[in-house]
Amino acid sequence: MKDMKSSKNLAQTRTHRYGMVIDLDRCTGCGACMVACAVENNVPPGDVAADDRTGISWLRVYRMNDSQPLPKTQTAFVPIPCQQCGVKTPCVSVCPQNAVEVDQGSGIVGQIPVRCLGCRYCMAACPYHARSFNWWDPVWPAEMKESLNPDVSTRTRGVVEKCNFCFHRLQAARAKAAAAGAKDEAKGDYIPACVEACPTSAFLFGDLNDPESEVAQAARGEGTFRLLEKLGTDPKVIYRSAKPWVRQMAEGALPRAGKDEHHG
Ligand code: SF4
Repeated sequence: MKDMKSSKNLAQTRTHRYGMVIDLDRCTGCGACMVACAVENNVPPGDVAADDRTGISWLRVYRMNDSQPLPKTQTAFVPIPCQQCGVKTPCVSVCPQNAVEVDQGSGIVGQIPVRCLGCRYCMAACPYHARSFNWWDPVWPAEMKESLNPDVSTRTRGVVEKCNFCFHRLQAARAKAAAAGAKDEAKGDYIPACVEACPTSAFLFGDLNDPESEVAQAARGEGTFRLLEKLGTDPKVIYRSAKPWVRQMAEGALPRAGKDEHHG
C-alpha cells in the first residue's frame, strides 16, 4: 500500500508533456507502425462486415499527392494517431461519463472503456477522426489468442477506443522507477510501440516540456506544423516536412477517408 501511495504522489507531481514529432519526409507508408500498434494494444482484426467507417484503428497512415500529372506526381504519407490535444480537448469536454481523462503527470489523453456508454459524442467532437467504435465484439483467430498483450484490456462491443501513446508502457516505466527508488521514469524506458517499430525512424518521442530533449528540439525546428492548428486544440503530435506542398495539404485538411487512406 505504501508503494502504491508513493507511486501515486510521484505521478501527481510530475510535469511531463509527452509528445511526438513525425517526419513526413522519412515516412514510406510501410504501415509497420499500424501493425505494431494493433498488436501491442489488442486491436482485433476487422469484422467481415466492417468498412472504412466501422473498422477499428488507433493509427492510420493516409496517402496524399500533389495533384501533378504523372510522371511528376509526388506522394507523401501521414500517420495520424490521436493528436493528444492539450487545450480545450474536444473529446474530454463532451463526454457525459468522464470516460476520457487527461493524466496530469504526462498530459496523455486516456480512454476508459468501462465507463463508456457508447454515445459517440467524442467521435463527433474529434476533428482528427482518431476514435473508433466497437460495432462488434472482438474476435481473434485461434492462433492469435495466445499472443494477446496481458497489459492491455480487451474492449467489448458498444464502447469507443483510441490511441493513448501506449499508456501501459508508461505505467511500467513508472513502476520500475518507483521500485528502484528513483524520482522519475528513466529516459528511454517509455516509448510507444509505433515509435519503436518504425524502420525509418520517422517518429521521435519524448517529453516536450524538457527543452533539452531531442523531441522538444525537433518540435522547434524548421518545417514543423500541427494538424488543423487553427482549431486551437494544442496537439502534442507535431509533424515535419521540408516540402511546402506537404505542409500546406497536411496542415489544412485531412485527406478524404476511403479515398486516400491505408487500412490495417
Ligand atoms: Fe481527443 Fe481527438 Fe484530440 Fe485525441 S485527437 S485528444 S481523440 S479530440
